[in-house]
Amino acid sequence: MNMDEQSGRLSVNGHTRIFGLIGNPVGHTMSPVIHNTLAEYYGHNLIYGAFPVAEDPVKAVEGAYALGIQGLNVTVPHKSAAIPALFEIDDFAAKIGAVNTLVRVEGKGFKGYNTDMPGLYRAMEWEGIRIEGERIVILGAGGAARAVAMMAADKGASQVFVLNRTPGKAQAIADEIKRLYPNCPMTAGSLFDYQQLPEGKYLCIQATSTGMSPHTDQAVIEDPAFYGRIHTAFDLVYNPYETRFMGLARQAGARAYNGLNMLLYQGVIAYELWNGIRVGTEAVDRVRRRLKEEMGL
Ligand code: NAP
Repeated sequence: MNMDEQSGRLSVNGHTRIFGLIGNPVGHTMSPVIHNTLAEYYGHNLIYGAFPVAEDPVKAVEGAYALGIQGLNVTVPHKSAAIPALFEIDDFAAKIGAVNTLVRVEGKGFKGYNTDMPGLYRAMEWEGIRIEGERIVILGAGGAARAVAMMAADKGASQVFVLNRTPGKAQAIADEIKRLYPNCPMTAGSLFDYQQLPEGKYLCIQATSTGMSPHTDQAVIEDPAFYGRIHTAFDLVYNPYETRFMGLARQAGARAYNGLNMLLYQGVIAYELWNGIRVGTEAVDRVRRRLKEEMGL
C-alpha cells in the first residue's frame, strides 16, 4: 500500500497496481491484511481488495484481466472452477487440481499457481516439522486434505494414512496419489481406523472443518488413545487460535500448531510471485503480528 510518509495517508494514484481475492463469501478474509501490510512494509504502490464472486469465476477472471488487475487470489468455491480461464497452470497446481494464486502475464492472461501447499510446507519448516521420511496421518478428504496428501507424497513421506468420515472419499484420494506417486505408501480408511495404525508415533495433519468457530467444542476424533499415537499435531484450522484438536493432542504430550502460519505463508508466497521478491523474516513477523491483532489476540 502506498502511504504518503509526510501525511501518513493512503496514496492511491494512476500508477497503483490492483490485486484482489475472488471467492464467495469473502467478508471474513484476512488476505487484504497480509498483502496490504507487505505493500506498506516494502513501499510498493499497490492495493489489495476482496471481490465477492457469486457465480461464473471464469468471467470474473477474464474481466479482471481486461481491467488490468495484476494478480488474484482465488478461494472457496472457485479454486477449481477458475482453471478454464487461465492460459497456463503450474505443474503442482495442475496435480492438485486447484489454484489459489493467479499471476498476470501481459498479452497472455493469468497463470495459475497453488500456494496453499507450499505455504503449509513453509509453515512447517518454520516450526521445525519435517515431512520427508515421516509417518503421517491426514484427517479429512476434502479439497485441503487432498492437497496435503499430494504434498506429503511429493515431499517423500514414508507412510501416509488418509482417514475420513466418508471413507470412499479418502480412498479416491489414495487411488489418485498412488497413480501419480507410485512409490508413496498411502492407505485410506475411516475415522475409526486409527486403531489399525502400525506401531510408532505419527505427525497428524487435521484437514477437516471440524472445530472451526463457532463449533469450537468439537474435535474430529475424541478418543485420547488416538492422541497418544501422535508426536506432532498440525491443525489447518486457525479460528479459534487454540482448537480442541490441539488441546487433546497437547494433553497427550504432543506438540500442537494451528493453521495461521499456513495462511500467512500462502499469502507471502503469492506476494513473492506477484512482485518478484523474497519476503524477509522481519516483514513476515510484521504480518503475523497484524493477523493476530485482527483476530483480537
Ligand atoms: P471441504 O472440502 O469442505 O472438506 C471438509 C472435510 O471435513 C471433509 O473431509 C469432511 O468429511 C470433513 N468434515 C466436515 N464436518 C465433519 C464432521 N462433523 N465430522 C467429521 N468430518 C467432518 O473443506 P476444505 O476446503 O478441505 O477445508 C478443510 C479445512 O481446512 C477448513 O477448516 C479450512 O478452513 C481449512 N483450511 C485452512 C487453510 C489455511 O490456510 N490454514 C487453507 C485451506 C483450508 P466428509 O468428506 O465425510 O464430508
